[in-house]
Amino acid sequence: MSRSFAKSSGRWEFEMKAAVLHAIRTPFRIEEVPVPTLGPDDVLVETHTCGICRTDLHIQDGLAYVPRLPHVPGHEPAGVVAAVGERVEGIRVGQRVVPHLFLTCGRCSYCRTGQDAQCSDLGGVLGVTAPGGFAAFFRSPARNLLPLPDKVSFEAGGLVSCAVITALHAFRRARVTANEVAVVLGAGGIGQILVQLLRSAGARVVVVSRSVASLDAVRQDGAALALALNAPDVIEQVRSFGDGEGAHCVFECVGVAATMKTAARMARCGGRIVVIGEEPEFPAIDTIQIAQRELEIIGSRNGSVQDAADCLALLASGVIRPPIARRLPLEELNDALALMRRGAVSGRIVIQLK
Ligand SMILES: [Zn+2]
Ligand SMILES: [Zn+2]
Repeated sequence: MSRSFAKSSGRWEFEMKAAVLHAIRTPFRIEEVPVPTLGPDDVLVETHTCGICRTDLHIQDGLAYVPRLPHVPGHEPAGVVAAVGERVEGIRVGQRVVPHLFLTCGRCSYCRTGQDAQCSDLGGVLGVTAPGGFAAFFRSPARNLLPLPDKVSFEAGGLVSCAVITALHAFRRARVTANEVAVVLGAGGIGQILVQLLRSAGARVVVVSRSVASLDAVRQDGAALALALNAPDVIEQVRSFGDGEGAHCVFECVGVAATMKTAARMARCGGRIVVIGEEPEFPAIDTIQIAQRELEIIGSRNGSVQDAADCLALLASGVIRPPIARRLPLEELNDALALMRRGAVSGRIVIQLK
């Protein structure tokens, strides 16, 4: 590397290219910004790829997460260690890494029981409320970084921090067993990975999506039934596939009021609804239905550091094969977000930084 990492007055001697959000509901600006400075326990990572997620649209729109502006988002990054803080041990320059996003305290009751995403003294979420990977470099605490196995590409490994870990954690919370009927509502990146995990567990899988292109992809991943969300008899088809009773488990990857209502109608008595999609809406499920039909509603958010390590092993062994739809340079981030907003892509768009 030709650029010097020697510090002068605590700052790097060069700047980096990044996508910066200056105001809510405006396009990202691609500009030169300072390289993140390192504390003694931090690592500087040179970003190779960074996936795009619906949460990036929420950040741009000022919904759900509101970071301090200006903000550099990007929460599915992967890269190579460029520099380490003075107290860092066990991570070396040149190593391929991916981050766990939650900048946890490491001390609260949630951290001590492996519920990292619930930390009660969270210092931020990398790329969501803290600076992220739509930049040539990103900073992470050393203990948040996991080594990326040689077999796993940067673009697939980067998806571990959001799409893949969210799917694996939700799958585990759902307690799905072999031969159970599982419905995946929404066939974006997370939905497609859920299908792969559910098939590996021997579940009978139905996918319901508004995207016809995604329905073809999930059939290849082993979904027995792939239905358009707007089909008039979609609930009846799911019920009859589930032995006339419906699904043991419904993964709600959309998160709007209408799809929550659909999920409840597809679930059999005693069924589980795992809520993954996050939208600022109130679900249209009446309490009579929840009580009398003994429905279980299970929230699921991202996952733990252990989940992330397990995801990397599942990627290396080929159980999880993340759907990469497009690769675009950082300069085309706004175009990529527009594609996602229109629902025009099946699978993940990845920004290629190196
Ligand atoms: Zn995400
Ligand atoms: Zn904590």
